[in-house]
Amino acid sequence: MRVHDNLMLEVVEKLLALQDRDQRLRNVRMELQAVPNEIASNEKLISDAASRLEASKSRAKTIEVEKKSLAVEADAKRDQINRYKTQQLQTRKNEEYSALAHEIEAAEKLITAIEDKELVLMEEAESLAPAITEAEKNFTSEKSRLNERIVMLKEKSANLTTRITDLEKDRTTATQGIEEELMERYDRLFQTKNARAVVPVEHDVCSGCHMKVTAQTTIALRADKELVSCPQCGRILHLPL
Ligand SMILES: [Zn+2]
Repeated sequence: MRVHDNLMLEVVEKLLALQDRDQRLRNVRMELQAVPNEIASNEKLISDAASRLEASKSRAKTIEVEKKSLAVEADAKRDQINRYKTQQLQTRKNEEYSALAHEIEAAEKLITAIEDKELVLMEEAESLAPAITEAEKNFTSEKSRLNERIVMLKEKSANLTTRITDLEKDRTTATQGIEEELMERYDRLFQTKNARAVVPVEHDVCSGCHMKVTAQTTIALRADKELVSCPQCGRILHLPL
């Protein structure tokens, strides 16, 4: 065996080690990129739950306001009825008396209608109260669960950032001994060929693009004198290790 045998294999092994770091880096960076969205979706769950709870509470307040205004309206009608009754006592005209009686009857009908509305609102308020209590309890536990998740995600983000720093150091180490021109070629392939710049030929097929390579390519690979590229996709090829 000559001293310079397996020279290209050495280069390929260096490239593969670098590619391994780059693939890890790529995965970790993608994972890190996803974290802000995950945090945002948890935050949205909290704010959605808060607005649902707020809507129930606000309905309860509206009911209180409506009930008060109905009570005021009913009181006004009762006062009116009293005034009509006083007028009835003062009048001597039969016509006026019966007109007032008619007014009184109409006002009493209105009071009944108001009381019906009050009853409906009271029933709604009664069923709303326990629902609000339940929703408040659920919201508190749900919120703390989601907040815990957010804390975990922030921790994850910090861990991933540390991991990236470590991998970047590893990557720098892995680039040592690789010629600049080859580094550029590798980087370009890694960027454009879906993070697979250096791939094995398996059963005469490029495992990057899955096309059969020529006999010439296989011979060149076996000779191990130069780096061999896939004629189809341009990836750097190596024989199975
Ligand atoms: Zn190929």
